[in-house]
Parts: sequence; C-alpha cells; structure tokens
Amino acid sequence: MPERTPIIAGNWKMHRDHLEAIQLVQKLAYHLSEEDYEGQEVVVCPPFVALRSIQTLIQSDKLPLGLGAQNCHAEDEGAFTGEISAPMLARLDVAYVLCGHSERRALFGETDEVVNAKVRAVQRHGMRPILCVGETLEQREAGEATQVVVDQLRGSLEGVTIGEATQLVVAYEPVWAIGTGRNATPDDAQEMCAAIRGEIAEQYGQGTADGLRVQYGGSVKPGNIRELMGQPDVDGALVGGASLSSEDFALIVSHRRG
Ligand code: PEP
Repeated sequence: MPERTPIIAGNWKMHRDHLEAIQLVQKLAYHLSEEDYEGQEVVVCPPFVALRSIQTLIQSDKLPLGLGAQNCHAEDEGAFTGEISAPMLARLDVAYVLCGHSERRALFGETDEVVNAKVRAVQRHGMRPILCVGETLEQREAGEATQVVVDQLRGSLEGVTIGEATQLVVAYEPVWAIGTGRNATPDDAQEMCAAIRGEIAEQYGQGTADGLRVQYGGSVKPGNIRELMGQPDVDGALVGGASLSSEDFALIVSHRRG
C-alpha cells in the first residue's frame, strides 16, 4: 500500500489582514521545530490579500510550509468582477486550493457542478484541490450521510482523470461540526473517511484510493487531534478556528510529540 503523507491545513476563512497574517505565520514557525514538519505537510490558507505576503515570508525564511488558497474562479480570466483565477494563484506559488467548502456551498450557492469546474481549473494550473465534502445534521439524522458525500464526490469529480485524481486531497467536513465545537467522534470520522476512500476506489481503482489523502475537518483542536489522526483512514486535518491561534495550530501540527 502506498505511503500517505499526512497533511494538516489551516483555513483562516475571512480573518487576518496581511500584516496580521505575517505575524501569525512567524509565531507559528517559532513554535514548530524541524521534527514537527517531518513526514507531514503543513499548509496555511490565508485570505487572498495575504497570499503574496505569506509567499514572500515562506521563501525568505525558507519555511517548510505550503501555501493554500480558500477558493478560486473556474475561468482563467474574463469579466468576473471581484473574482480571482487559478492561474493568478499558481503565480503566487499556491500549492493547494480549497474547493467546495461547505460555507461556499451554503452561503454562495456553489453546486457540485460549480465545484467540479473549480477542481478542474485548479488542476489545469498544476495545483492540488482540497475537495471538501460533508453532510448536514439533518442529512446525518436521516441516515443519508454516506450517500450525500458519495454524491458530492461524483458530482465534483466529473471528468477528472485518474492521473488528476492522484493529486487530489479530500476533506471530510460534517457541516454540523464546523465552527460549532462539536466534532465527529473518531469512529464516525473513520467510517466516513473510509467510505470516501471506497468511493474513490469505485471511480479510480484501489491503487488511487490507497494513495488518496483524506482529511477530517470540524472543530479540530489540540485536545482531539491525536485520536483523530490515529484512525487508519484519516490522513490529516482541515482546521478552521484553531488555526487562527499560532499556539493551538502548532500544538495540532506537533501532536506526535511525546
Ligand atoms: C473549516 O472551516 O474547514 C473548519 C473545519 O472549521 P472549524 O475547525 O472551526 O470547525
């Protein structure tokens, strides 16, 4: 079975201006040692306006951090006032782009079709999508969680080739756990991440599924990261609120310390 390098990403959402962003990353780097980065990827996803500052900081201080963006437009350019395209992000050395975060689905009307177009734009420009999927509380209580996630995967990955699928990261983020302080149990997270891997095996074969990195996201904190990361199908975390504290995010990243 291929080795899967865990990936822990911080989604800052609409928090921190570019000066605060620099401070946050500097403090994070201060709290982390070389060993904390070893064998895993650590990514920060600041707002668009801070990407250039953080890119420069990562380069100048040679920080072993990846840069991620929270969204992009599906078209490469055009009359789309206020939007940011995938090639613009690629020029800033952005490595990962969140696609289909539940806040974008719920607040900005992103359908699987829109998410699919964004995933493909990200891949066209050599970056990796972190494709977010997850069910609402209503859907979970109706016993529909797995089907909802499978449908989101099918819709969002339409036309994505096997080669492209190997570059994908999927984040399982139950909507009811995001920003609520209520996280999925490690068993629930494991079950859903395994179901995601199963669906990828259906679509792309077992080899691709075995190599796929599946993150859990939803109220990840220093106190629950170890147990979540201990699950065989959980290959990382997508962290919202706790990534805004350099101390907490560093504790999450360094969860393997004794
Ligand atoms: C997120 O925004 O992707 C997220 C998981 O948020 P939080 O960790 O705050 O629940």
